[in-house]
Amino acid sequence: MTLITDVRTLQEIDDEIAALEASLSETDARLTRSEALEAAEAAWATADAAFQEVRRAQRDLEASIASLTARIDPEERRLYDGSVRNPKELTAIQHEVELLKAQRTALEDRLLEVMEAFESAAAERAGAEAALESARRSRAEEVDALRAKREDLAARLAAALARREAQAGCIPQASLRLYDDIRRRRGHAVARIQGSSCTGCRVAIPESIRRKTFDPAALAQCPNCERILYVG
Ligand SMILES: [Zn+2]
Repeated sequence: MTLITDVRTLQEIDDEIAALEASLSETDARLTRSEALEAAEAAWATADAAFQEVRRAQRDLEASIASLTARIDPEERRLYDGSVRNPKELTAIQHEVELLKAQRTALEDRLLEVMEAFESAAAERAGAEAALESARRSRAEEVDALRAKREDLAARLAAALARREAQAGCIPQASLRLYDDIRRRRGHAVARIQGSSCTGCRVAIPESIRRKTFDPAALAQCPNCERILYVG
């Protein structure tokens, strides 16, 4: 094994670790919240609020109609039970009864409209409730799958970290420090020479440095981006 081969293997393991860590944090984000479930909850809340409002309007109208009826009935009885004999008073009562009945008819018309709205609000609410239930079931299944995925990723990450430690142990301290330092600054510490350029920064590599990449015990670096170079 040449030094550069060991360093490239370390870079591969580090790439794998980075990918596993990215998958883990994405999985954690998906475990934290579900936009589909939140949307179903919001739709249910909206449908429920609309339903409650229509129901309140219906009850208010029914109460107003009942209170009008409670005023109309005794007045109507007075018209026909002979208790009022004064024609003027009878006319006044009749007039009031007609007025109250007209008010009641208007409220009854409004009640019919509200009852229709109630039907459709109830249907919409039932639909939103069914959709919410279905979203909750899907979410429960999704959470199970995500937890299993998370467990698998965590195990693979632990294995990759152990391999990383073993691989780092194969590399001399000074080279390892160099590698870690470049990786911290550049994200990726190793670059291939393609044609005669560094694939990390596209700058031309002098022949003397290119030759150095074939030295089994040394690391050649790009004079521009400092990445560790290899040919192949
Ligand atoms: Zn470079």
